[in-house]
Amino acid sequence: MVGKHDSCDDRTGIPDEIAGLRMTRQRQEIYRILLEERSHPTAHEVFVRAKDRLPNISLATVYNCLEALVNHGVIRQVNFERESSRYCPNLREHGHFHDESTGVIHDVGFKPGFNPADFLDLPPGAVVQDIEITLRGNVPVL
Ligand SMILES: [Zn+2]
Repeated sequence: MVGKHDSCDDRTGIPDEIAGLRMTRQRQEIYRILLEERSHPTAHEVFVRAKDRLPNISLATVYNCLEALVNHGVIRQVNFERESSRYCPNLREHGHFHDESTGVIHDVGFKPGFNPADFLDLPPGAVVQDIEITLRGNVPVL
């Protein structure tokens, strides 16, 4: 979680440390790309964007940065069937709506009072700790 921070990088506006993770220049740039690009990019898409700002960065470094950010809970890794992992900086509990006609992946929040037990037959006594919901469909062009 992004909390209180004593210092901040002037170039990126991103703290030097998040959730105990030291934010190197590379990690800051990767994180900034994810904040700017809310389309749930793949590691390769992040890499292509990162090269604009960090011409010497390698794909392996991008993977390492993403892994560190995921492991510290700064971003989430999202896996859709048969696809490369995607990355999401939205830490609020949410599902994903995959627009099949455009390929856009929308974050969809849960409405207040949302309880999965209201519409799913869970095993008796089951306690839900984490929810991953992926919906597929189309968003009409208005
Ligand atoms: Zn998301």
